[in-house]
Amino acid sequence: MKRHYQVLIIGGGTAGISVSAKLRRRNPRLDIAVVEPSDKHYYQPGWTLVGGGVFDASQTVRDEADYIPQGVSWLRDSVSEFDPENNIVVIGSGEKITYDFLVVCCGVQLDWHLVKGLPETIGKNGVCSNYLFNTAPYTYECIRTFQGGRALFSQSGGLIKCGAAPQKIMYLAADNFRRRGILQQSGVSFFTGKPGLLRVPEINAELMKIAARYGINLHFNANLVEVNGETKEAVFEMTKADGKERLTVQFDMLHVAPPMSAPDVIKHSPLAVKDPFGWVDVNRDTLQHNSYKNVFSLGDVANTGDTKTGAAVMKQVPVLVKNLLSAIEMKTAEGPALYNGYTSCPLTTGYGKLLMAEFDHDNKLMPTFPLDPRKERYSMWLLVKYFIPWFYWNRMLRGKI
Ligand SMILES: Cc1cc2nc3c(=O)[nH]c(=O)nc-3n(C[C@H](O)[C@H](O)[C@H](O)COP(=O)(O)OP(=O)(O)OC[C@H]3O[C@@H](n4cnc5c(N)ncnc54)[C@H](O)[C@@H]3O)c2cc1C
Repeated sequence: MKRHYQVLIIGGGTAGISVSAKLRRRNPRLDIAVVEPSDKHYYQPGWTLVGGGVFDASQTVRDEADYIPQGVSWLRDSVSEFDPENNIVVIGSGEKITYDFLVVCCGVQLDWHLVKGLPETIGKNGVCSNYLFNTAPYTYECIRTFQGGRALFSQSGGLIKCGAAPQKIMYLAADNFRRRGILQQSGVSFFTGKPGLLRVPEINAELMKIAARYGINLHFNANLVEVNGETKEAVFEMTKADGKERLTVQFDMLHVAPPMSAPDVIKHSPLAVKDPFGWVDVNRDTLQHNSYKNVFSLGDVANTGDTKTGAAVMKQVPVLVKNLLSAIEMKTAEGPALYNGYTSCPLTTGYGKLLMAEFDHDNKLMPTFPLDPRKERYSMWLLVKYFIPWFYWNRMLRGKI
């Protein structure tokens, strides 16, 4: 196997495939490899609609081989060590691969183990999560078979991918219960480690009204710390002005968005920010590493703040590609391209209803369409159900962004 590449991309998910495709389009002579262990590529935003019973899980997965751009090498392995001082990564087989430029986009790690009892019970006993391809169908099973009682939805307080996904499925569930006439005899509760529903004040105000419309009980600064699937009990740690307090709540179904952090291999590498989450230490505007100038990072693993969405990746790709090509071609005159922190949360607030929240680093609304973003719309539901998946597979992953 060849052991040196001009550009080595770690992770062949949303960001890795989009970047490799766009780089090839811009310069077909580049010698690029993608390191990715999975032979499947997932359209993760679709998992909300799988959990809501709108999509079948099979609509969200395709063969990775069909999306590795022509002329790009695919090393089907995981990186087990980074040595950026010497421009080396070590892959699972033990081989060392060297590079001129490195792009790190290996996503997040789902830290199920940080909630006591959760790894043992996820996917059964009424404990579900849209955060995995394998468990998203069980979410709909829980919603469909719910006959009233307590439905809990939880969100970890740290940064998670698609920070709105825990709420999206809650509104779909509440709408399902309403349509089946069992919402009145159901207690739907949201426990979030965050101090509010969304960091953008205008959207937060709308979401408070939507939650009230369904009669949802909201609990802020409340992190799930323990689950007992057998007894159907969830334990939350509530942070109050006068300290912490634990609350045990009985449930009939519990949807979980677990704590997340950078994959351990990143966290324990010289590339990481030195904190417990260990995201890649990039300049959030240029996406270039703060210490290693031949290293770039984007997507969920990059330390760009609370922007962990595929929509953010869509805006980051052209920025990273321009800055990487400038570095390769040693062009500095033009000045770098800058990422403004754009991210988007398409909030499914009911079946056929969607509130499209798009905003930047400073929580400033950035609507793509000239429409009031505080309004729930059927047109946005159609966009998310039909257009965006098509755009993802046919434009974004082909580097046409
Ligand atoms: C339930 C849910 C709903 C969502 N909804 C939306 C939405 O509505 N809109 C939106 O824009 N975004 C949404 N997202 C978020 C979006 O899917 C992610 O932000 C996006 O996929 C991030 O792309 P990425 O390339 O950084 O990570 P990923 O696409 O997760 O790819 C990371 C890749 O790295 C690989 N990898 C991991 N470790 C290693 C290693 N050691 N070596 C090599 N490769 C490795 C993995 O196998 C994976 O293929 C949602 C996500 C979920 C789970």
